[in-house]
Amino acid sequence: MSDKFDVIVIGAGPAGYVAAIRAAQLGLKTACVDAFTGKDGKQALGGTCLNVGCIPSKALLDSSRQFWNIAHNFPVHGISVDNPKVDMATFIGRKDKIVKQFTGGIGQLFKANKVTPFFGKGKLLKGNQVEITGNDGEKQTISATNVILASGSVPIELPFAKFDGKAIVDNAGALDFTEVPKRLGVIGAGVIGLELGSVWKRLGAEVTIIEALPEFLAAADADIAKVAAKEFAKQGLDIKLNAKLNKAEVKKDGVHLVYTDKDGEQKLVVDKLLVAVGRRAYTDGLLADDTGVKLDERGRIAVDEHNHTGVDGVWAIGDAVRGPMLAHKGSEEGVAVAEWIAGKAGHINLDTVPWVIYTEPEIAWAGKTEKQLKEEGVPYKVGNFPFAAIGRAVAMNEAVGQVKMIAHADTDRILGVHMVGPGVSELIAECVVAMEFKGSSEDLARIVHAHPTLSEAVHEAALSVDKRAIHKGN
Ligand SMILES: Cc1cc2nc3c(=O)[nH]c(=O)nc-3n(C[C@H](O)[C@H](O)[C@H](O)COP(=O)(O)OP(=O)(O)OC[C@H]3O[C@@H](n4cnc5c(N)ncnc54)[C@H](O)[C@@H]3O)c2cc1C
Repeated sequence: MSDKFDVIVIGAGPAGYVAAIRAAQLGLKTACVDAFTGKDGKQALGGTCLNVGCIPSKALLDSSRQFWNIAHNFPVHGISVDNPKVDMATFIGRKDKIVKQFTGGIGQLFKANKVTPFFGKGKLLKGNQVEITGNDGEKQTISATNVILASGSVPIELPFAKFDGKAIVDNAGALDFTEVPKRLGVIGAGVIGLELGSVWKRLGAEVTIIEALPEFLAAADADIAKVAAKEFAKQGLDIKLNAKLNKAEVKKDGVHLVYTDKDGEQKLVVDKLLVAVGRRAYTDGLLADDTGVKLDERGRIAVDEHNHTGVDGVWAIGDAVRGPMLAHKGSEEGVAVAEWIAGKAGHINLDTVPWVIYTEPEIAWAGKTEKQLKEEGVPYKVGNFPFAAIGRAVAMNEAVGQVKMIAHADTDRILGVHMVGPGVSELIAECVVAMEFKGSSEDLARIVHAHPTLSEAVHEAALSVDKRAIHKGN
């Protein structure tokens, strides 16, 4: 086999593996280098997302939700279960099985598409050569006309709360607790903190989330964040805003935390501490000094709007570059770059990337918040519809939250849709389609939505933009 490729991708997360498959589909001779080692010591393709991110967190969220429902939802339906228990080995084992199924699946897809996988750490050298260092220290060099950097991200570590993999953990550690911690501390009320905090809360942990910002879920629309905060408080998640961690010390009886809030210095002892204060682009050892590839002020690989680094034939995608750190954003960049390399018309629109938080209730949005539009001076109108008036949601006993649609005041073009409630991770897709087609709220208002479904909340919110919702006052 020749070691000269058309495309080499470094990183096999959702950005890199998708780029590799699309490049191979387009007839390009493609290799993909990845260093992730699974629990069995073998290569585990799929990056953060499949190994320690999106997929395992959703597996545990679903398992823990079933358990939570027994106590909190079943009785409403007239079903009672005595003394439910969780078997931790099965709980974690199910998640591991799903991870293995999906990481193995990428290997199959590589085979089917004739992508050549390499197991090891890839380093870009001058002239689009890639040096690969295997686990055993063996080195080999391959080269390509184009190299796509997709090295992803890693959790940010706090210097005064360093990960030890036991008491102070990152996302990977919090997906692998062998027993339910009695007291769990979470630093950061972002997506990861809320999702993993929810998992362990549902199984009975006392969860305290410490968040430095004064505002809850600042990236979301304020109306949606308000509903979510109320629901999380009802579930017993103790979220402390405007609270800054100063110290975390591991002692025999737990992790001793010192944090400052509006009332001064506070102390808290927890059994486990999850630090989820954000992620940073991972470029350690990725670039030889003379490649010419630059990093931006936040340590991300600097790229233009076509994900090109400015160095001939070198591109970068996913969490390692600007834009939201979301799997689907990286995958779409991967497809676009492969198409640009093949001389086709690739396309990526960062303005319509949907955000989803898989808590209970779920939170989802796409486009601008009301606050952003106010700041930008854009004239807008708003429609709202509560799930409390949606028959399907009531029948499911999940009639919490709302859909909020924002359209331009003059053109009616949809500028943003924000949701909190049941199934909104799926409902947001319809709104993204409408926004990508430059649709108006009237377009959605005129489309037939099946009854009774949760999607009627989107329909009614669209009607409500024009003050003509049917099942509520306007
Ligand atoms: C707990 C958690 C839950 C999440 N849930 C969601 C979710 O529900 N939805 C969502 O959209 N996003 C979610 N994310 C974010 C998502 O995982 C990331 O946005 C996504 O994985 C980024 O993809 P990527 O391909 O850019 O990088 P990564 O997935 O980080 O993959 C990068 C890969 O490159 C490898 N690598 C790095 N450097 C080298 C090198 N020099 N040589 C060889 N290999 C290298 C790494 O080992 C890794 O395998 C979650 C993240 C976490 C932590």
